[in-house]
Amino acid sequence: MRRRHRKERERWFFKLPLLGSFMDISRHFIVSCIFAWVLYPFVGLASLWVIFGGVLIDFDHYLYTLFRFQRWSIGYSYYYHKYFRREYSHYEPDILHIFHTWEGFLLMFVLAFFSLPFFFILQGMILHILMDFIILFKYDLMEVRALSLLGWLRRRDYL
Ligand SMILES: [Zn+2]
Repeated sequence: MRRRHRKERERWFFKLPLLGSFMDISRHFIVSCIFAWVLYPFVGLASLWVIFGGVLIDFDHYLYTLFRFQRWSIGYSYYYHKYFRREYSHYEPDILHIFHTWEGFLLMFVLAFFSLPFFFILQGMILHILMDFIILFKYDLMEVRALSLLGWLRRRDYL
């Protein structure tokens, strides 16, 4: 049974290059731009914050390689997430992308009450996480990233 599970996992890993090109940051940029374009007639230039939130949430990836490997290079971070991490031998589940957790969204949700830019940044982040989730669900990859900061801390005995 265990063996079968491992084999299944290997099988969907072959599909990961596909996933890589879809989750590429340029896709987030394009979809965020479309969303901002739809909002523009209603809210004006404030819609640009949607692009800001929808793209820069992936700064999380940089923070991860910075703290996990003490690597400052943006190029390394990109390479790590796009290729290196997807190799079976280097795969690591449950990584922490802090603004992709519900606590990160809660923080932005609270800030959104006090500031209009944060309100639109949050809209961009919601669009972004929906795109991420569609792909993670599709390829049964929900385990790749922590959904909760508290849960992640608890699993490592920090709490
Ligand atoms: Zn993301």
